[in-house]
Amino acid sequence: MKFETVLKGHIVSPGEDFPGEVGICNGKIIEISKTKGKLDAETVHDFGEDYILPGLIDTHVHCYSNPNEGIKRASSAAAKGGITTFLDMPYDLPAPITNVKALKNKIDIINNESVVDIALWGTVPKENGAEVIDELAEHGVAGFKLSTFETDPYRFPRIADADILEAMKKTAKKDLVIAFHAENDELLNSYIRDAIAENNLDPIYHNLTRPPVTETSSVIKLLDMASWTDAKLHIVHVSHAQTIDYINWFKEQGVNVTAETCYNYLLLSTEDLKKYGPKAKINPPLRKPEELKALEEQLFNSGIDFITSDHAPWQKEDKEIGNDNIFKAKSGAPGLEIMVSLLFDYLISDKNMPLSRFAALLSSAPAKRFNLSDKGSIEKGKDADFTIIKNNAPWKIDENDFLSISDISPFHGHTLNNHIEATFVRGHSVYSHKNGIADKAIGQFVKPDNV
Ligand SMILES: [Zn+2]
Repeated sequence: MKFETVLKGHIVSPGEDFPGEVGICNGKIIEISKTKGKLDAETVHDFGEDYILPGLIDTHVHCYSNPNEGIKRASSAAAKGGITTFLDMPYDLPAPITNVKALKNKIDIINNESVVDIALWGTVPKENGAEVIDELAEHGVAGFKLSTFETDPYRFPRIADADILEAMKKTAKKDLVIAFHAENDELLNSYIRDAIAENNLDPIYHNLTRPPVTETSSVIKLLDMASWTDAKLHIVHVSHAQTIDYINWFKEQGVNVTAETCYNYLLLSTEDLKKYGPKAKINPPLRKPEELKALEEQLFNSGIDFITSDHAPWQKEDKEIGNDNIFKAKSGAPGLEIMVSLLFDYLISDKNMPLSRFAALLSSAPAKRFNLSDKGSIEKGKDADFTIIKNNAPWKIDENDFLSISDISPFHGHTLNNHIEATFVRGHSVYSHKNGIADKAIGQFVKPDNV
């Protein structure tokens, strides 16, 4: 048979990688060959020795925390960074995704503007929030994100324990993930009050006012609640190895829980917080170098299920207000455009992680957890989503060149040894290193298959 498109390169499929080719028709993977020159097609993309990975998935992105960003910019940044599907967080400005009207409006924007595929998180209002879960679930959210820490009383509230338990029961019935930003609001607010009273405003106080216990004590509570409700619990942005120890123990008891860390916690430490100040202010905070080592060990011992960017597209003015007082700067940093290449250098080139494990952390594990069964691996019948990486092709990160509206990064000036050569979504080339972002935005809203 003649395929619409054939991709040739070094293919990374579950459990193995080999030089070969993939045949595509109607946006789907139809054939995989372990020898080159076997599959015939109208269009052939020969990537030589480059790696053809399954389309990579980032389950933690904040398009509208900064409304200057939006879907078009964030999805272009994703395509350039080798992300073919992302899950967008619900804490949008001006209003969070707590009702069907807001959800439908966001789905329309995605179907009109997005360059890559996007699934959506929903969330609940501060009071009696669990009421909105069934309706949002029926309209296709991929999961619910809640917080034990109050970033904003309306948009990103702290949810009380009774409402958390109720939300866990309801999401369990729908077989949907319930994810938490887990920091102990009471503890860290008390530490921040003390620091400000004593005029301790240097960047390092962002770390010192959020010691590891502010994460672990919050996660322990959620693990316990999940054990009583059969919730499909997910802990976002784990920053500390002891959190993973607790998660592992509850996993062994049969609790349905997964954990992610973000690329920043694997690559940056308190040394970077001191050096870069507000640009390196993220929640939870960067940890000490020895704590970073311990987190890395958890990753290599399979204690971490996937890695995300927690892309927060802040601009210079959002960070510079914190130059003399770290508590005034916005928390978060961009990541869609640089995470994959940074992780490839660190995990594959430096630490010799097998390519198939890398693909599991960034594609098959999140696809499975969120029931996105068309995504996640290079196998027959799956969507033809691919991330093509060219290794040994050095370039320097420049925060002023991002497709995202964000123009800050603690990685500004960092030299990478690989770049994203091309990105394919359902058989369409949405980005190439040579030609940039494709003119036509073909991205779509993606629902989990259990809806
Ligand atoms: Zn986040």
